[in-house]
Amino acid sequence: MSILVLNAGSSSLKFSVFDDAARDKLAGGMVERNARGENDTLTLRLSHSEGQHFDKERVDASDDVLWILRGLASVGLNDPIRAVGHRVVHGGTEFRRSTQIDDKFCESLKSICELAPLHNPPALAVIEAARKALPEAPHFAVFDTSFFADLPPARFLYPVPYEWYEQFGIRRFGFHGISHAYCAARAAELLDRQGDPSTRVIICHLGNGCSATGIRGGVPIATTMGFTPLEGLMMGTRSGSIDPGLLLHLLQSERQTPDELAHTLNHRSGLLGVSDVSSDFRDVQQAADSGDKRAQFAIEMFADRVRSTIGSLAVTLGGVDALVFTAGIGEHSNRLRTHVMQGLECLGIQLDEDRNRSSKADCDIASKDSTGRVFIIHTEEERMIACEGLKFIL
Ligand code: AMP
Repeated sequence: MSILVLNAGSSSLKFSVFDDAARDKLAGGMVERNARGENDTLTLRLSHSEGQHFDKERVDASDDVLWILRGLASVGLNDPIRAVGHRVVHGGTEFRRSTQIDDKFCESLKSICELAPLHNPPALAVIEAARKALPEAPHFAVFDTSFFADLPPARFLYPVPYEWYEQFGIRRFGFHGISHAYCAARAAELLDRQGDPSTRVIICHLGNGCSATGIRGGVPIATTMGFTPLEGLMMGTRSGSIDPGLLLHLLQSERQTPDELAHTLNHRSGLLGVSDVSSDFRDVQQAADSGDKRAQFAIEMFADRVRSTIGSLAVTLGGVDALVFTAGIGEHSNRLRTHVMQGLECLGIQLDEDRNRSSKADCDIASKDSTGRVFIIHTEEERMIACEGLKFIL
């Protein structure tokens, strides 16, 4: 018996299979949709073995799910699926906790698709396809927003007319919650302070999308993403926070239409927009190393925003017991971590450069004198979803 986790993005469908206690990951992989209309690719990796690749003509979500199931059977993973977990980016105000999926759920999710137009519609398509393919198994949804459902009002309200909140539901939701929740729990474990309500942890999730969260005793106090996943830190292609006045200026002067502006801020800004090299941190770093000035600015801006956000969250929490770096850049770029940490000695947190260079996951890279620990944590969003699934297995 196993638990299948499906994580639908705008251009890929990732999947993982865990045993029914959500302890061991048995397999994982993804279906990538080829934007040029060529064959899609299924990559399937059994734990402890090389990936296998399969190509196939362009398909829709229902084919994707069947394709994954056939791929799993072809490598001997025929165990009945006990439950199916779906990652859903935006739960709006309706879904504050992980939820069992039924027809009513799908209707409600449809009604909030406009809140996350890039992410929720593909998730809904996959949910519908998976329910058809696996009608006997309970399906459940885990939301990126749920972890932040209980943010205090002063942290989820914007300083705009209060009726925008009452009439239009304008508020901060927060995202990457599954990753932040996992890392907060893992950090508490590494500190040996599970269940201690006073533990102050700052998580920096730095990947293609970037966000930071301040957490006390496992409870999020403040986070950088807001009404949409565009707010906060600078990202691969997303701007992060910018002056709303400049958006008004561009719209009023008709230099950008609303659609162009949405596209520019989501897909042509951040590391890519400043460097004009790539949204991929490794490419930007390489260009910066060969003297490209704009790539150097991009990295400087990226690090500066992470650093000042850590400072702000540290003040909000009243100190730092652990600072966590996770996701592609956070976990793997020791140079970015060094860059970010320059100046944070005033908070009592300091790197041990030898340990930092090792980039080993789930280890402490702080110096002996540092008052707070600094951890690299390999985030495990899909394992977290599988663990939530235990609640839905009867
Ligand atoms: P994610 O969204 O978590 O998959 O992270 C993707 C980002 O991580 C991209 O910007 C990659 O360039 C970056 N990344 C992945 N591996 C490395 C590495 N070894 N060094 C620096 N950045 C990396």
